[in-house]
Amino acid sequence: MPEGDTIHYAANRIRPIVAGHVPDVRTPAPRLRAGRWPERLGGRAVTAVDAHGKHLFVHFEGDLLIHSHLRMTGSWGTYAAGARWRRPPNRAWLVLAADGREAVQFDGPVLELMTESRRRFDQRIAGLGPDICAAEFDEDRFLRRLREEDPTRPIGDVLLQQQVVAGIGNLWKAEGCFAAQVDPWRAAGSVSDDDALAIVRLLRPRMQQSALDGNQGSDRAVYRRDGMPCPRCGTTILQRGQWEDNRATYWCPGCQR
Ligand SMILES: [Zn+2]
Repeated sequence: MPEGDTIHYAANRIRPIVAGHVPDVRTPAPRLRAGRWPERLGGRAVTAVDAHGKHLFVHFEGDLLIHSHLRMTGSWGTYAAGARWRRPPNRAWLVLAADGREAVQFDGPVLELMTESRRRFDQRIAGLGPDICAAEFDEDRFLRRLREEDPTRPIGDVLLQQQVVAGIGNLWKAEGCFAAQVDPWRAAGSVSDDDALAIVRLLRPRMQQSALDGNQGSDRAVYRRDGMPCPRCGTTILQRGQWEDNRATYWCPGCQR
């Protein structure tokens, strides 16, 4: 699943194509046809492209915005006009074209046109925790949200809760816990504020770098490295499903406490 850094990377690629332009809007997917997006967005310039956690927003003049969340299956691609796309055209939900280039969303499970005021009241968006990739990170808010969660829930799983901190997925959860030497199976209530902050402080520069270069976690220590020796202590790395969604977690039982 794309994590926050991948979504920020997409926003960083889409922005130079459409920001300040009036894009040609096409919605090839039949499900979006009734929404008349080309008519509603016609003639409007894009004012900004940004992201919060795993949510991406394309803002238009006149208080309208496109909200996208890729879940497990979706992706954004950017192309020169006429270039061959990475996925088949019948899986394209949205095309924004300007200045000889195109931004294309494929297989978009969450793709909607809304007003800015609706966004402010939409709990899926307004309820998100601080964005791990953003330039500023509200640590107090993160800790408050963390302490509102079930204290018996494993810290590794709480880090995936987007209302606590927005943008962490399975890869960065495992890498963050390893970097801070925190066992992802520890009950969240037993993890100190300092240890919880160490996880996000160690992750932020790596995820911010990935948002710039798209080179996600090329130096992974534990993610998908089960059965291999820990780079820090040599103990064999383990993998097991965690909590209700059974999301795989990877950790070193030798040096994560
Ligand atoms: Zn180790």
